[in-house]
Amino acid sequence: MFDKILIANRGEIALRVIRACREMGIQSVAVHSTADTDAMHVRMADESVCIGPPSGTESYLSIPAIISACEVTGAQAIHPGYGFLSENANFVQIVEDHGITFIGPSAEHIRIMGDKITAKDTAKKLGIPVVPGSEGGVPDVAAAKKIGADFGYPVIIKATAGGGGRGMKVARNEAEMERAFQTARSEAKAAFGNDEVYIEKYLQKPRHIEIQVFGDGKGGGVHLGERDCSLQRRHQKVFEEAPGPAISAEERARIGGICANAIAEMGYRGAGTIEFLYEDGEFYFIEMNTRLQVEHPVTEAIFGVDLVREQIRVAEGLPMSFTQDDLQINGHAIEVRINAEKLPNFAPCPGTITQYHAPGGLGVRMDSALYDGYRIPPYYDSLIGKLIVHGRDRPEALSRLNRALGELIVDGVDTTVPLFHALLQEADILSGNYNIHWLERWLEANL
Ligand code: ADP
Repeated sequence: MFDKILIANRGEIALRVIRACREMGIQSVAVHSTADTDAMHVRMADESVCIGPPSGTESYLSIPAIISACEVTGAQAIHPGYGFLSENANFVQIVEDHGITFIGPSAEHIRIMGDKITAKDTAKKLGIPVVPGSEGGVPDVAAAKKIGADFGYPVIIKATAGGGGRGMKVARNEAEMERAFQTARSEAKAAFGNDEVYIEKYLQKPRHIEIQVFGDGKGGGVHLGERDCSLQRRHQKVFEEAPGPAISAEERARIGGICANAIAEMGYRGAGTIEFLYEDGEFYFIEMNTRLQVEHPVTEAIFGVDLVREQIRVAEGLPMSFTQDDLQINGHAIEVRINAEKLPNFAPCPGTITQYHAPGGLGVRMDSALYDGYRIPPYYDSLIGKLIVHGRDRPEALSRLNRALGELIVDGVDTTVPLFHALLQEADILSGNYNIHWLERWLEANL
């Protein structure tokens, strides 16, 4: 079994993995850039290695630096967290070629799911319902217009190599197609170095529902229900909950069963998320993420499992510690993403934390790498904390969220906390009546 794991990440997710290692009696190695010398993950790990200058490309994304750090410290496995190298099939291949275990799925599964056209084809073959749209890539505007006419407007043009909500453009009618198509292409080229795009029917009022799956890599697969992540700004999630307020136990069992079977059939190893849009009682696959998600704690809360521990177990070749029947939902959980951002434009707001106080008490979990006096560097993601609450039911979780937000103190920088205070005053949020457009519309009207 592993004695030592290197965490190829920073911030709250690095802490999350270090905590699981410590509970399992495994030594942890932090890697960091020169901008993160004082970061909490460096302080908390058993060992640390500086792997480069501030720029992510030269540090957290530097494959040679991370492999060297493993060799120098004798770490036997790498946990990639989310973001950075977590969905880089080439990295996984190199890690394995060096005799190091990658804590995650195979390079092949990451490659298949990283290309959204291949992912959709694979999903279809595995019996997963997908959003209607083009068969593969769309080469030019003429072909795009033909698809628009066939499927009916509006349609959405999406980057094959997409991620993080980039390279996506909606065309509401044929007149808008040329511009939307060219813009999506050039954004895709700039962001991913690949200008291939495909087209989907644009759903008008869906919810974003994602199924947490887990495989043992040997043909065993389970699902851990859904998360509703419909509250989004620019296709980025800000508030997530489980179970989904609009999903019935029958629907969960049906779509969950399809996903668990797909995972089993693939021989998928570790944690994954199959993302759907859900409208009028139907699920439509959009993509699969082959890693731990930012919002995994809401699933952990309602199922009482430790997904990171489970990832480490299956990477060691051990069986999963639960069966589908063991996985019973208990209560309701909500996560809010606390970003160092200034409202109303959500402009990144790095700076020094003059005071930090985390909320506590029953059913409250705060995953954050903040501390008093910490300087948030300007080079990375603006996520500085995740507040997760768990209650016996949704109303209890909501009132607990309200209470915990009231206790939280993050002074010195602007954060998204005021947004959540305001959202908790909204009848639609309290009743769970929202879709993927709700937040954008609310922001336009209220901020
Ligand atoms: P990314 O990988 O960039 O996050 P996704 O394919 O996961 O892209 O889509 C992100 C979000 O974009 C979805 O949660 C949804 O809000 C919106 N979206 C994507 N596809 C469609 C579609 N066909 N119709 C309507 N909205 C969509």
